[in-house]
Amino acid sequence: MSVQRFGIFGGTFAPIHTGHLRAAQAFLEACKLDALHVIPTNLPPHKQAQTLFSPTDRLTMARLAFSEVLPDPRIVIDDYEIARGGVSYTYETLAHYAAPDRELWLFCGTDMFLTLSEWKHPEQIFARASIAYMLREAEDAATLSRIAQATQRYEAQFGARIRAIVSEPIAISSTALRAALARGEVESAYLPKSVQHYIQTHRFHLKEQA
Ligand code: ATP
Repeated sequence: MSVQRFGIFGGTFAPIHTGHLRAAQAFLEACKLDALHVIPTNLPPHKQAQTLFSPTDRLTMARLAFSEVLPDPRIVIDDYEIARGGVSYTYETLAHYAAPDRELWLFCGTDMFLTLSEWKHPEQIFARASIAYMLREAEDAATLSRIAQATQRYEAQFGARIRAIVSEPIAISSTALRAALARGEVESAYLPKSVQHYIQTHRFHLKEQA
């Protein structure tokens, strides 16, 4: 039986940015994935809900961005969590994609990696998937030490399989991009042109943000 290396890249993607795209490419290469599912969350359990973009907007922008910047037949922009509705839990998504002929990999940036044991049913997450994490920026010594401690703790407590992706990150967040949109700034080196166009067309930069 040949085993498929199956990557999951979840996020709110509100909006998707070049940091996500760089990370997805590094994830594909470092973990030699056969398939990569990019899965926008419906309602994230661990983040304050943003109100600017609907789930459909986030899905559409992800599709535009990947086809513009990283067209690759292995990548699927997957509406599984949005179609399921409600709060999106990673342990449920992993259970859905688990199969005997699949090796599951879950991507996390620094911030998500450091909170993994607070997610719902972390023992199921670590049992089903190997974790690949990547730094979001040149992190300071204190953060690097928290990452090392978290790695040891996850391995000891959950038998986690963890891999660090070494790649030059692009230090940007969706929060910073939403702040720029609130100032009316749509053009950004961090937003693919097709996403900028979508934002212009739907006038998101002129809308009130909660
Ligand atoms: P927000 O600012 O709204 O919280 P975000 O920029 O953190 O959003 P998410 O959609 O929440 O983006 O991130 C999805 C995944 O991508 C998470 O695992 C996150 O850590 C990771 N990620 C986000 N930005 C980067 C980046 N610049 N480099 C590497 N990983 C990133």
